[in-house]
Amino acid sequence: MAKEDYYNLLGVERGASADELKKAYRKLAVKYHPDKNPGDAAAEAKFKEISEAYDVLKDADKRAAYDRYGHAAFQGAGGGAGGGGGGGFHDPFDVFREVFGGGRSRSGGGGAGGIFEEFFGGGGGSGGGVDNRGADLRYDLELTLEEAAKGVEKEISYRRPVTCKKCSGSGAEPGSKKVTCPTCNGAGQVVSSRGFISYRQVCPTCHGAGVVIEKPCSACNGEGRVMETSKAKLRIPAGVDTGSKLRSAGKGEAGRMGGEAGDLYVILHVKEHELFERHGVDLFCEIPIKFTLAALGGTIDVPTLFGKGSLKIPGGTQTGTTFRLRGQGMPKLRSDAKGDLLVRVQVEVPKKLSSAERSKLEEYAEVCGDPANPTGASFVKKAKRFFGDK
Ligand SMILES: [Zn+2]
Ligand SMILES: [Zn+2]
Repeated sequence: MAKEDYYNLLGVERGASADELKKAYRKLAVKYHPDKNPGDAAAEAKFKEISEAYDVLKDADKRAAYDRYGHAAFQGAGGGAGGGGGGGFHDPFDVFREVFGGGRSRSGGGGAGGIFEEFFGGGGGSGGGVDNRGADLRYDLELTLEEAAKGVEKEISYRRPVTCKKCSGSGAEPGSKKVTCPTCNGAGQVVSSRGFISYRQVCPTCHGAGVVIEKPCSACNGEGRVMETSKAKLRIPAGVDTGSKLRSAGKGEAGRMGGEAGDLYVILHVKEHELFERHGVDLFCEIPIKFTLAALGGTIDVPTLFGKGSLKIPGGTQTGTTFRLRGQGMPKLRSDAKGDLLVRVQVEVPKKLSSAERSKLEEYAEVCGDPANPTGASFVKKAKRFFGDK
């Protein structure tokens, strides 16, 4: 059974604006909603159809694909990579869109796409008319913690469809004409009949345009766009974190038929550092110190993201003590403020002793008295109570 045209289903013109689409969909959704028609299988089927139609048409990108290829645009979707030829709609930018493409269910709203909804939803907004704006693209970029701390400039290259230079995006071979569509004689619609019912349908040949290209452009096969490797320079400010987004306006897919280009969104991922652990603007690091230094006190070198720092260890420092180095953490994004570096010291007990070390330590132990008992007086008291000797 042939699938009904999405525009027909919603009862709107091909050029309907986003608002008109929404209104038409709402009206029909209220009418056919399963809650209003309990047990009515026909109403439920209709509700599913209009929801599917609206899901496609409200998305500028999917709508453009549908306008171009009809239902074929979404056939075999989900088949995954590798498909190759075989016609239909092949989207080379699946990778970039995995987060905000497909799977945008009407009901849930949750899922991985959640965060990006506000960003990428809406598409053309309330401009009216068919939205020819190119799709937004996503690029995932990995940074080191140092780069995130200092800010960095990066150049990325990626593939995207750009307007075909040969035909200026029209899809027609230069010098060739656009001719009246032979299927609908320029009406953009055809009348079909099924039994006693006849209904209008968007012309399958010209998809409502009324004209067709006489000779498709040889450079782009009539697509109006060609794939190209583009470069984008990014200035990454100090203080970014995993999940930070940068937008490069107009660096997404080229628009269709002179439409505005989409944007490129770069999503940053900061790699883990071997020394520092990041908690917001603060950095944590663990440093081993000799037990003699912990007991006697002294100054040690500590690594910071901005060079070498020094830390004063007071005598009698216990293992696990944390020291705060103010302003040695991550910079706050778009501010002069900086977080702190928190250094936790681990007192190291030597595993091997030279004979000289051993004899000195034995001397020390002798001075301290009974080496089998810890020196903490309160612990000794508690332990005695535990064993029952008063
Ligand atoms: Zn072309
Ligand atoms: Zn036609």
